[in-house]
Amino acid sequence: MADNYQIEKNDGKESVARCKRGRVAKIVVDKNVCIGAGSCVVVTPGVFQLDKENKAYIVDPNTANEDELLLSAQSCPVSAIKLYDEEGKQIWPEAN
Ligand code: SF4
Repeated sequence: MADNYQIEKNDGKESVARCKRGRVAKIVVDKNVCIGAGSCVVVTPGVFQLDKENKAYIVDPNTANEDELLLSAQSCPVSAIKLYDEEGKQIWPEAN
C-alpha cells in the first residue's frame, strides 16, 4: 500500500493529495481537463470516483500502491491525472 496520503484539496477545479514518502508524492486531478471517461475509476475505484458533475476526484490514494496509481493515471485518455515525485518533478505525464 502507498504511504499515508492526505487529501489536500477537493474543489471545483482540482483534486490534490500528497504524501511525504515514496515515488509518487503528489497526485493532482485537473477537473478542467477531465472528461469523465471513468478509466481511472475502473483501474483504482478506491482512489478515484466521479462527482456529480462527472469529474474525477480523489477519495483515498492509500487504497492503491504506486504502480496502480501510475497505471490509473496512464489510463486517462486526456492526461487529467498528474503525478509528481518528492522534489516536485512531474512523473506523469512524462515531459517531452
Ligand atoms: S480517466 Fe481521466 S477523464 Fe476519465 S474520469 Fe479519470 S481523470 Fe477524468
